[in-house]
Amino acid sequence: MHMRPGTGTLKLTTFRRRIDAFVHWANTEADRCGLTGETIPPDPLGNIGTARFRRSLAWHIARRPNGLVALAIQYGHLRTAISGAYASRGRGGIHELIDIETVRAVADTVADVHDDLQAGRGVSGPAARRAIKASATAPRFAGTVITATTAKRLLVNEDAIIYDNPHALLLCHYKRGTALCHRDGVKDAPSLDHCVPGCGNIVRTDRHAIQLRERANALDRAASHVPQPVGTRLRANADRLRAHADTHDRTRITLPEDAP
Ligand code: SF4
Repeated sequence: MHMRPGTGTLKLTTFRRRIDAFVHWANTEADRCGLTGETIPPDPLGNIGTARFRRSLAWHIARRPNGLVALAIQYGHLRTAISGAYASRGRGGIHELIDIETVRAVADTVADVHDDLQAGRGVSGPAARRAIKASATAPRFAGTVITATTAKRLLVNEDAIIYDNPHALLLCHYKRGTALCHRDGVKDAPSLDHCVPGCGNIVRTDRHAIQLRERANALDRAASHVPQPVGTRLRANADRLRAHADTHDRTRITLPEDAP
């Protein structure tokens, strides 16, 4: 069977047509309901095209590592290549936007770790002590306006950067030398979508332990509705997740009582 290349992805013209159709539909509905305040006004910069979504794209690349899979299908490569490819298609590059959004996401993650530790919650994993140190830098992020220059500077500071990896239910306190996930020549950032259990950069929090058990329970429920071989695999995965949660409970460390 002949497969048309690019099947499953939208072409730019289709994308633009759909946005125009959406604006037309929204305005017709707003008129029909007498909600003139909800009308989408004509855009002074012209029709909305893909180049106008650069910040949204950067946000998703930075905060939704699993979105990389969808983006990889759309653009053909992972993080670095995606931004490179997009840069050559849109107006100017989006590398700087990705750096800024990545640092914003990191700032949120570091602040969460800081707040959790202050509230008496614990962290575990080979990079737990490093993460405690990094969390002390949370106020630094809070007072910083993130520009392209500050983002670039912060991203090379391995001590300050903690990535959230909700898919693997862990935090990655990335250190190039100990990372187990490098692929496709990408060396300056973790490949969060290829996280390797046992990596020395892993940190887990009490929240992760809760989420691990919730995901394990969901897998057990799913296992009872599928054929036995698949069910056995799902239950084995559930056991593995519970083991991670148990390890966290056994090895978690907290801030000392007199910590600032
Ligand atoms: S393998 Fe290590 S460096 Fe890579 S994402 Fe996982 S924790 Fe981070």
